[in-house]
Amino acid sequence: MHAKLEELKQRLLEANDLQSANALLSWDQTTYMPSGGAEARARQMSTLSRLAHECFTDPAIGKLLDELRSYENSLPYNSDDASLIRVTRREYERLVNLPSAFVAEFTNHSATIYQAWTEARPANDFNRVRPLLEKTLDLSRRIADYFPGYTHIADPLIDFADYGMKAESVRQVFAQLREQLVPLVKAITSQNAADDSCLQQDFPENQQLEFGLAVIKDYGYDFQRGRQDLTHHPFMTKFSLGDVRITTRVKRNDLGDALFSTLHESGHAMYELGINRAYEGTPLANGTSAGVHESQSRLWENIVGRSRGFWEHYYPRLQALFPTQLKHISLDTFYRAINKVQKSLIRVDADEVTYNLHVLLRFDLELQLLEGKLEVRDLPEAWHERYETDLGMTAPDDRDGVLQDVHWYSGWIGGVFQGYTLGNILSGLYYGAALQAHPSIPAEIAQGKFDTLHGWLRQNIYQHGAKYTAAELTERVTGGPLRIEPYVSYLKTKYGELYALA
Ligand code: ZN
Repeated sequence: MHAKLEELKQRLLEANDLQSANALLSWDQTTYMPSGGAEARARQMSTLSRLAHECFTDPAIGKLLDELRSYENSLPYNSDDASLIRVTRREYERLVNLPSAFVAEFTNHSATIYQAWTEARPANDFNRVRPLLEKTLDLSRRIADYFPGYTHIADPLIDFADYGMKAESVRQVFAQLREQLVPLVKAITSQNAADDSCLQQDFPENQQLEFGLAVIKDYGYDFQRGRQDLTHHPFMTKFSLGDVRITTRVKRNDLGDALFSTLHESGHAMYELGINRAYEGTPLANGTSAGVHESQSRLWENIVGRSRGFWEHYYPRLQALFPTQLKHISLDTFYRAINKVQKSLIRVDADEVTYNLHVLLRFDLELQLLEGKLEVRDLPEAWHERYETDLGMTAPDDRDGVLQDVHWYSGWIGGVFQGYTLGNILSGLYYGAALQAHPSIPAEIAQGKFDTLHGWLRQNIYQHGAKYTAAELTERVTGGPLRIEPYVSYLKTKYGELYALA
């Protein structure tokens, strides 16, 4: 059995190497590659993803998984070997449904539409990407077709990112959340908005980046195993457990943009960096779901990075870095500015309270596209209508409407957006559990100390990688299933102090 397990690991490692090489090409495409490289890069990534897929779905892996079944059954569920076999089988059975030629076609298309989006957005030209987006929708629907027996066409796509969730279960959670959020947003936005003009002064880019890097170093992001580069739409990527990188973008007249995206991506990266190194190169060496991943980025970005205690420690340093801009701005004014709640058009810039409304709206649009109830050509209009209904605003153009971010112009339509809001909900749930174990955490944050929190997360969440499903992990960490109450109560407490709420 030992030899068979070793052979399985060896094969998984090869598939993983091809995937990692592809991730490096993708990182380069979105950071340093000159636009002239786009066409060849799309082809190269398509070739590598086809080879990686062929490698991972090789019938020899299926045979090894069959042969290892009795060994797996003889082990405790939690053991590393049993988990490796179980999680690999789940991935194998899923990916074997997708033909390699389809994977190659999809990857090639994805690189092409990404490039087109980078040109279409500044030009405010939805028509430039429209035929490509129609193809994305067609390919996304075809993915679902490879998994017959679903209840909702989005179910197979949701399952890829948030294993165990279905369109219906997500809808139920989102309906509960909407019921809590809508009155909260109404109560806050009916009051005078916070003044955030202090964030919109001239802040030299290098100093902004320097400050963000100093904070995430304190968080515990390991620069021996990571680095930060500039891009259009910030992301985290991993080439191995020894090389997990983040990206950001920086705006001279917006202090929040680079800083909070840096804190956000560092949360994703620390999750990956905290995975048990023994899992390297196997399907266990990943975050377990999109929702759990996002819970970690949002926890470090918002629950920690936008807390009052955090800024009691860091604000004097920020003032020292930008004396002319911030010397006369009080901590209180600054704290209110970074937590300004307002109805807005851009999801990634949205505050904690309204953010989920953007996600809920896009989740619904995705389902309608997949169900065939909404055509791509009608999407810009449908977008504007939903923003008017849900947020009371209409974007002046498609640049800040349907073209606003990279989603749908990279990867498929469906199964992505639910992860953002599930992540927010889980961030509140997990942070509550961390506080129960260590009530001293907020006081430590106010001293710029993050070891206890980071250590708890590493111990309870990070180290396990994909060993437990999101549902299993949540049960282990919190003693129960996913529930919205701790997150809602976090929002109500924090914003109840900032705004007079009945
Ligand atoms: Zn994220």
